Amino acid sequence: MVIGAGFTGLLAARVLAGRFDRVTVLERDELPSGAAHRSGLPQARHPHGMLARGAEIVEALFPGVRAELAAQGAPVFDFGAGFATRLPHGWAPRCPVGIEVQSFGLAHLEAVLRARVRALPGVRLRDGFVVDGLHLSADRRRVVGVMGHRRADPGHMPVRIAADLVVDASGRRSRLPGWLTAAGLPSPRRSEVPSPLVYSSRLYEVTGDQVPDWSVSFEMTLPPSVRRGGAAVTVDGTHRLVSLVAPGHELPPPRDDEALRRFAASLRSPHFAEVMERGRPMSPVHRCVVGGNRWFRYDRLRPRPGRLLVLGDAFCAFNPVYGQGLTVAALQARLLARLLTTAHDPGPLAYRFQRRAARIVLVPWLTATAADAGWSVEPAGRPARMTRAVLDVVLRRLPGEPGLYARFARVQNMVASPGVLLRPLLVRPGRRSGRAFRAGPVGPPREG
Ligand SMILES: Cc1cc2nc3c(=O)[nH]c(=O)nc-3n(C[C@H](O)[C@H](O)[C@H](O)COP(=O)(O)OP(=O)(O)OC[C@H]3O[C@@H](n4cnc5c(N)ncnc54)[C@H](O)[C@@H]3O)c2cc1C
Repeated sequence: MVIGAGFTGLLAARVLAGRFDRVTVLERDELPSGAAHRSGLPQARHPHGMLARGAEIVEALFPGVRAELAAQGAPVFDFGAGFATRLPHGWAPRCPVGIEVQSFGLAHLEAVLRARVRALPGVRLRDGFVVDGLHLSADRRRVVGVMGHRRADPGHMPVRIAADLVVDASGRRSRLPGWLTAAGLPSPRRSEVPSPLVYSSRLYEVTGDQVPDWSVSFEMTLPPSVRRGGAAVTVDGTHRLVSLVAPGHELPPPRDDEALRRFAASLRSPHFAEVMERGRPMSPVHRCVVGGNRWFRYDRLRPRPGRLLVLGDAFCAFNPVYGQGLTVAALQARLLARLLTTAHDPGPLAYRFQRRAARIVLVPWLTATAADAGWSVEPAGRPARMTRAVLDVVLRRLPGEPGLYARFARVQNMVASPGVLLRPLLVRPGRRSGRAFRAGPVGPPREG
């Protein structure tokens, strides 16, 4: 049983269908047949970029998805050539790096995946059903199902559904910690690194002859010195989703068109202002409070009931400006597929899964929280300070070093480990050998 039919829940259902005769996905929302928006997926109003590693896993689980999205107009392009990145110290080099990526709207991706999951034998998507709690064995050592109610039922009559294995994929607002407490069990410790960032996004239709030379454009924030940024994603041939990003009190109100344009013009990348100038608005301005990084340590929770797995944002949600959430969820789905091929009993599987899922989360967590530690006046922990020191050096050097950028792009897309950056960092260009970089805080960005 899977709680939540978002991106993670759909991938989990696909993987579980390979091993179990029956898989039920319970979703609170009424699910649309196409790419329409729904209230349980507010983030789909905002630009999403899927890293190459995540796309690779999705394609392996659902062969032909890339082509299906491409047929709807979602461009496929080389990351180095089509992804324009304004870094704190200048533009990232624009040259092919041999990594193919695709841009699309999240609602489109989910619609395609949902149709594929619906067609799987033995899988049932049960929408309009709200899960309210866990159903545990008498000794409370394992989960044997869930409790919930139909949204359409005015009396909210409780319904109990039995299951051999329960996967929580109910996202950032998962209520699982409360369900565990209500059942008299401990709930997980929470690691949190907040971010004050807010997204303000709008869909535009851009027609005409002047086709921009980017499919995705991104201006990076790097606190404390770079507090404002933006993202623009090509959803299809003519539609671009543009987002302005800053701490909430620095963003103009959604209805103040003029102030939003001025804000866009104040950014270092001209791309966002250009789309807003030339494009026809196709949606209202949607705001989203990002909420920072939050990791529920289910991997360390003792005792915890068996036959319960937690995936995706319900396990660990990142500040989305780093674009890691979908790929980390895809990596977890792949891990689950691997463990299912050898596991005979779903009980111990849950413990092994959560421990190994924590290893998947670790590097993305360190990267995101090291950068976001800049929002806080409190000193960061040692691992975050070290990661930030390396990040600052890499970011300063990237604009002038295409070779380093090609490696960085592989790390950023999670197709290579951060270790591939160490050698070029230790050997400065023009030197045969060199001393390690000097770590220090990033200064105010230079223009250029
Ligand atoms: C503004 C923004 C921009 C982002 N940009 C990127 C990006 O560029 N790249 C990237 O990789 N990631 C990005 N992310 C993160 C990405 O959206 C998430 O990591 C991903 O969507 C998480 O998917 P999920 O399935 O785990 O959770 P969700 O998408 O939240 O899905 C959870 C589902 O569970 C359902 N549900 C919840 N509670 C219950 C219940 N009690 N009973 C039944 N159903 C329930 C919900 O209705 C929902 O359908 C962004 C996020 C935000 C907010």
